[in-house]
Amino acid sequence: MSILVIAEHDNSSLKQATLNVVAAAKAIGGDIDVLVAGENVGAVAEAAAKAEGVNKVLVADNAAYGHFLAENLSELVAEVGKGYSHILTSAGTTGKDFMPRVAALLDVAQVSDIIRVESEDTFVRPIYAGNAIATVKANDSIKVVTVRPTGFDPVAAEGGSASASVEQLDVVKDAGLSSFVGEEKAQSDRPDLASAGIVISGGRGMQNGDNFKMLEQVADLMGAAVGASRAAVDAGFVPNDMQVGQTGKIVAPQLYVAVGISGAIQHLAGMSDSKVIVAINKDEEAPIFQVADYGLVADLFEAVPQLEEELKKVL
Ligand SMILES: Cc1cc2nc3c(=O)[nH]c(=O)nc-3n(C[C@H](O)[C@H](O)[C@H](O)COP(=O)(O)OP(=O)(O)OC[C@H]3O[C@@H](n4cnc5c(N)ncnc54)[C@H](O)[C@@H]3O)c2cc1C
Repeated sequence: MSILVIAEHDNSSLKQATLNVVAAAKAIGGDIDVLVAGENVGAVAEAAAKAEGVNKVLVADNAAYGHFLAENLSELVAEVGKGYSHILTSAGTTGKDFMPRVAALLDVAQVSDIIRVESEDTFVRPIYAGNAIATVKANDSIKVVTVRPTGFDPVAAEGGSASASVEQLDVVKDAGLSSFVGEEKAQSDRPDLASAGIVISGGRGMQNGDNFKMLEQVADLMGAAVGASRAAVDAGFVPNDMQVGQTGKIVAPQLYVAVGISGAIQHLAGMSDSKVIVAINKDEEAPIFQVADYGLVADLFEAVPQLEEELKKVL
């Protein structure tokens, strides 16, 4: 078996999710190559070559891939991937964009969002927002699979044999179907929401965007990322890249603090794998308390400032 893992990165550093995907590839077994497609990605390729279990790193360094346009990436991945038994990437925003196109180009079915590997062709994945778990068998000759990063412990970033070779590819696939116009990125010094060890999220109960500053102050004391429910995003309190849940980001931090969030199943789908869940809600009947390890029935406008004061004493 030979597995091609498509690296997730920002052209300068390798995202941790790639290490989780390599872990899934190891569970399948076989040689693991990593494809790094982007622009000026020398440092990313070097990092990928150091990861545990990686055999070879293939590099497609070209402006056509610099902004991860799905139309271009999918053609490249389908071309390079047809020599492999499995093609894997993270079920993040980029992977969700290009992988279905890869499956279509190869005329195979995609297996999405796996959380466990049973065997080389059988995978476990959540369905119905995590309310049911399906075991699916893929009969296609090439398995196109997206991996939920939180389902697999990452391989070591360094500590592989350190001998993975790096090979430059000269296939350039500019499909000519799309072009990059611009992007507006939220600037934040806080950890990345999807991989943070601590996440504090606010919901509709926060009432407005200004009140999220309370959560940001607590987050800065704890080194946490700030997330939100969809209701908070839809109400315009915070940008949608902060959304946690079925249609947002899937997180599984050591500690998840839900503030003014009711605990709808679509929200739980994005955070119920967190190791310790703390909920602050004034309604003792709120469903979030059913999944919380620690629950505080309180008005958040009293509880959060108190939490901040207590943290300042101990941190
Ligand atoms: C297809 C689909 C996909 C969806 N995807 C997502 C998703 O990805 N993520 C997501 O979050 N939702 C998602 N939703 C929406 C989801 O169903 C809920 O509507 C949403 O999660 C509710 O957000 P909330 O808990 O912030 O708001 P509410 O349900 O309104 O809850 C607000 C909570 O705040 C508490 N509160 C109010 N004031 C205070 C106070 N002063 N102190 C303490 N507590 C207070 C209330 O008691 C209440 O429990 C999706 C829905 C659909 C249909």
